[in-house]
Amino acid sequence: MSTPGFDVVIVGGGIAGLWCRWALVNAGYSVALLERSALAHGQTGASQGILHRGVKYAMSPDASRAAAAADSSAQAWDRAMSGRAGPDLTSVRVLAKSMLMWTDAGILSRITGAVASRLLTSHVERLTDEQIPPLVRAPARAAYRVGETVIDAVSAAHALGAAVKGVMARAAVRSIMPTGGMHRLETECGSIEAGAVVLCAGQGNGELLAMLGEDPAQWMQLRDLHMVAARGAPGELFGHWIAAASDKPRLTITSGQDGGVVWYIGGDLAERGVSRSESEQIAAARQELGACFRDLALEQMSFSTIRIARAEGKDKFGKRPDGPVVREVAGKASGGRVFAVWPTKLVMAPVAAAQLLEMLGAVTGPSLSGASLGGCASPDYALPPWVRHR
Ligand SMILES: Cc1cc2nc3c(=O)[nH]c(=O)nc-3n(C[C@H](O)[C@H](O)[C@H](O)COP(=O)(O)OP(=O)(O)OC[C@H]3O[C@@H](n4cnc5c(N)ncnc54)[C@H](O)[C@@H]3O)c2cc1C
Repeated sequence: MSTPGFDVVIVGGGIAGLWCRWALVNAGYSVALLERSALAHGQTGASQGILHRGVKYAMSPDASRAAAAADSSAQAWDRAMSGRAGPDLTSVRVLAKSMLMWTDAGILSRITGAVASRLLTSHVERLTDEQIPPLVRAPARAAYRVGETVIDAVSAAHALGAAVKGVMARAAVRSIMPTGGMHRLETECGSIEAGAVVLCAGQGNGELLAMLGEDPAQWMQLRDLHMVAARGAPGELFGHWIAAASDKPRLTITSGQDGGVVWYIGGDLAERGVSRSESEQIAAARQELGACFRDLALEQMSFSTIRIARAEGKDKFGKRPDGPVVREVAGKASGGRVFAVWPTKLVMAPVAAAQLLEMLGAVTGPSLSGASLGGCASPDYALPPWVRHR
């Protein structure tokens, strides 16, 4: 039996792999996407789903550059979610149309200055005391409504998966070898040939780059997080508690469901909590929630934690840029036409896919008609992380 061949094989079915798949299929390439676990099983399904418009960066020295990159990417999501352009993402579940951002006395002037900057005014509105949800109210506290949509990232994976036809298979890649102008990928369910290979495996890109003779440390970095899921929350909440003059919220809370409301908590708590055990992290979460919300019935809440790393690309100078990283892996062992993609943020996936399409188009066009991968099963979609880590 001959080996099935595709113009492009994409490795990894998170937001980057799925958006790149849409862009390439739409441009006429035959594409197979390989996912070793479930679609959106990695960072995508574990993300907080905030389509950042740059407000998060308001306090950082590079505010305007980072904010502009995030804002233009968020607009691509808006177009796709309203059915105006791009993949049909009209079925994506919007969990909140805006985020809250609240701050306490002391750093108010700094925030107010950032909010007043030209770039951010259109997305941020200060709330009156009556408009602040009762749970969030506290003396000398100010709150803003931030125009950042929060989505269910797994529903975005579903919508992208359905937006174009094409092969998606559950298979881990064991090796990638250049052969006669093509690439041969050995997988759990057989061999596949590809004109070009796109690495969208998040953390797994490290292993794939090593297979191609590259040093992953030159290409990417991992930043660990220790997230917290809090069950028995009094209601849905989507917001950042900014309690220091930095671009890191002390808490970032989004909400999901699992037989009741679950708060999914990141921010500084998740970054600093990396060195804590699960029970220490839960104790820290209780303390932070108690400090933030005077009237929260903490004794009615139960907690679990989730460890996950953010995998981010480095540019050719070894720096982590504000935008997505799309680089050609041009070393001898790759045989050329291998690309590595890290969107840096969920929201930046459309920009990453557009960059990939441009770089790929410069070296190769659609030519193969594709095939089926009979020996491989189709991948499922991931469950939310707080359900997987109860
Ligand atoms: C806790 C957390 C919260 C976040 N919150 C936000 C947010 O609110 N807003 C935002 O914009 N960004 C957020 N991010 C960042 C965002 O989630 C990531 O930038 C984005 O999801 C990365 O997508 P990806 O497709 O590159 O990687 P992933 O989603 O990690 O996908 C990689 C996929 O590749 C598969 N894979 C790995 N190795 C192999 C292999 N050898 N063969 C086949 N498949 C393989 C994995 O199973 C996985 O499904 C958050 C990240 C984290 C960790």
